[in-house]
Amino acid sequence: MSLEKKLKAIIEKRGPLTLAQYMEYALFDKEYGYYSSKDPLGINGDFITAPEISQMFGELTGAWLVTSWQVMGSPKKTKLVELGPGRGTLMKDILRATNKVPGFHSSIEVHLVEINETLRDIQEKTLAVENSKKKKITNEGVMVKWHDSFSSVPEGPLLLVANEFFDALPIHQFIYKDGGWQERMVCFDDKEGLAFGASAGQTPTTALIPKKYKKMAEGSVFEFSPAANKIIEEIAIRVKKHSGYALIIDYGYFDNQLKDTFQAVKKHKYHQPLEEPGMADLTAYVNFPALEEAAKKKGVHVFGELTQGEFLVSMGIQVRASMLARDATEEQKKQIIEDIKRLITPEEMGIIFKCIVITDIASPAPFCFA
Ligand code: SAH
Repeated sequence: MSLEKKLKAIIEKRGPLTLAQYMEYALFDKEYGYYSSKDPLGINGDFITAPEISQMFGELTGAWLVTSWQVMGSPKKTKLVELGPGRGTLMKDILRATNKVPGFHSSIEVHLVEINETLRDIQEKTLAVENSKKKKITNEGVMVKWHDSFSSVPEGPLLLVANEFFDALPIHQFIYKDGGWQERMVCFDDKEGLAFGASAGQTPTTALIPKKYKKMAEGSVFEFSPAANKIIEEIAIRVKKHSGYALIIDYGYFDNQLKDTFQAVKKHKYHQPLEEPGMADLTAYVNFPALEEAAKKKGVHVFGELTQGEFLVSMGIQVRASMLARDATEEQKKQIIEDIKRLITPEEMGIIFKCIVITDIASPAPFCFA
């Protein structure tokens, strides 16, 4: 059996799926889902992320987290949370870069939110985790715990980072047609197999489209992720209650262009999203205005409109690169220049990747975001 066959049976029995339901199956189905078992990352995987490109990304993120922790008054028992840690490279670089900061490692617990068992094993190896008195301890002596979802992370002062996590969460998609919004659905056609369709009229989720989009140009597309909003709300509630800073980095938009951003990537190439479900990574650009709104409704501050390029340059990536280059071979120097270009130039990841920070009202503006 394949996921396509399973979906055919489900659609024949219960009718077309929303795009969010389709993504949920294709990404997270226990048997066939893309994120359920395999390691999708790196050169041999389907895509490569900023922390996998260069250690500088994690080192500078680590410096930002330490600064935030100090601004919070260096609280004990701070929960350092990462959502979707991939191969664990970002957390490894964060912990290495902050090893000498007095009091930091003894004040934090690391909580990793990860659903993929294969990636959990890789994360454990990357962080050189050992079992000690029923606890898991990293190379640097920091306690680490894994969670299926953010809601099971214990409460307390929060430092959170999420890189390329929100783009993997299921979205609903709506198309403006004949003077109204229709929801994009996934149907099954005996000739074509899985195929896109549209709802006949309103669906329960069309009610979630903001009122300002009531009248739009024909063909406009609105995308929305209730799953992303739910996690953002949980983060907002936590920082409001215990103080904290949550840094979210992802590809997405600050101004909604009302375009279709749903895409599939396999082996570093674009793929038809309904072909071979479960075999390709499905993502959508992150709707940052929707996340900001969801957080603000819970009474917290959102800082943003910063691109990844701006963030890394403000954090001193050029200085860090020249430090690394000092002891590097010619070959390594070339690589450092290559990597920095990939991370910060507008043609590569510099602009399309955006950063926002969620923090409580009482805390000062986050470093670099003021
Ligand atoms: N942050 C990493 C990996 C990004 S890939 C990096 O920058 O390299 C997305 C990560 O999120 C993977 O680890 C994936 O398994 C995890 N993930 C995706 N959806 C998730 C969910 N709903 N809950 C928990 N983890 C999830």
